[in-house]
Amino acid sequence: MRYFPLFLDLAGKPVLLVGGGEVAARKFSLLNDAEAAVTIVSPALGSALSEALGRGAITHLAREFLPADIEGKWLIVAATNDPAVNATVAAVANAARIPCNVVDDRELSSFIMPAIIDRSPVQIAVSTGGTSPVLARLVRERLETLLDGSLGTLAAFADRWRGRVKAKFSDLGARRRFLSWMLTGPVAAALRAGRHERADELARNALEKDDALPQGHVVLVGAGPGNAGLMTLQGLRALQEADVIVHDRLVSAEVLELARRDAARFDVGKFVGGGGATQEEINELLVEHAQRGEYVVRLKGGDPFVFGRGGEEIDFLKRHGISYEVIPGITAAIAAGAYAGVPLTDRRYSQSVRLLTGNSDEQLAQFNYSDLAAGRETLCFYMSVGRLVGLRARLLDAGVADDLPVAFIENASRDEQRVVLSSVNAMQRDAVANQVKAPTLMIIGHVAKSAAELQWFGQRAVG
Ligand code: SAH
Repeated sequence: MRYFPLFLDLAGKPVLLVGGGEVAARKFSLLNDAEAAVTIVSPALGSALSEALGRGAITHLAREFLPADIEGKWLIVAATNDPAVNATVAAVANAARIPCNVVDDRELSSFIMPAIIDRSPVQIAVSTGGTSPVLARLVRERLETLLDGSLGTLAAFADRWRGRVKAKFSDLGARRRFLSWMLTGPVAAALRAGRHERADELARNALEKDDALPQGHVVLVGAGPGNAGLMTLQGLRALQEADVIVHDRLVSAEVLELARRDAARFDVGKFVGGGGATQEEINELLVEHAQRGEYVVRLKGGDPFVFGRGGEEIDFLKRHGISYEVIPGITAAIAAGAYAGVPLTDRRYSQSVRLLTGNSDEQLAQFNYSDLAAGRETLCFYMSVGRLVGLRARLLDAGVADDLPVAFIENASRDEQRVVLSSVNAMQRDAVANQVKAPTLMIIGHVAKSAAELQWFGQRAVG
């Protein structure tokens, strides 16, 4: 470790900045955020610093640097475009043992400045030991995406409750467990949802209760269509905090890879025609783990509220007093359209989209087919490849043109994606001939033919 990391309290303390241009202005802005009392030595000031001077935010000495300028300073930054001046500043500062940074010159600097992620009061500083500021910035960008904007609020909340938590738990282990619950469970969720009073109430209730196990939390997360890049950042954060993950068969291995390594995992996948856990068993599983104080992620393919039974699950959680959140995902119809080159509402052919499922004869019987046949609409059928005989007959009976285009998009957005193009008349025959299987999203409507031209992902469309 070449550099010793530390966070310095500069509020109200004299700091010297040598230089008046753009680079100096950027350093000034950081020092100003830390409320340092900044003196700038420079014959002239650029526009940003002139403006700061106008606001009374700096003391300006309009001349060249003099060695006496360092007196009484806690920190010095040399940011002129003259290497000789920068070297002089560094030499004088080093002789006086005052930490000095020379912009873009690691050898002359006795301290370097990190890339920072600011969720005050939480701050994360990233350093590559001066080897590559660009790399430090890349690391910073990755971390930015992982850390929710509510992190600062959470830290301030924990600070406010620290005394009461300490008073209740004299045992350090118990105190840590409680704090970790507070920072990940329902309290944190309430803060993310902007419900500050609810967060206070939850913390108060948990502290008043005698049993040491406060309630956990369930997050319904939409995993999207399977391509891990299509998860939301919120969904990713939840996966990385999870104690328990309860997922469907539809959720791809690629998405599960992103989850916290030591989370317990339950595959509750349901096969078409049985197998897997029942909905009641899944509901019970969620409640059971949440009641143990765990952070449970219920991970579902696509979006939790689109043919995903998310509504039934949160209804059950609500009745059992378990707190929950719902993080949307990209639903199969949206993904299939994008990845097969089918603009769902291309205004030349379509002005509305329907999401439908024809998973059983009973469901098929419920549609108003003359409505579906009216045209200028895109029909996105989920879970329907097993019912094509009945669907085709009903559509044709209702007067749908037999050459109306149909696209089957199997495994949309995944490496194995396949697109089969057909028509209402031939759809059953073509699906069988090409062995189209679940998960497949079927698009019926004039837009479906665009796949032949506009598809950009995976194997070329057949048919
Ligand atoms: N909640 C999910 C849908 C679950 S129902 C969502 O919003 O997407 C399961 C059906 O979704 C499958 O039978 C299939 O029709 C469709 N589906 C899900 N993922 C798919 C994918 N990657 N490619 C094509 N269809 C998919």
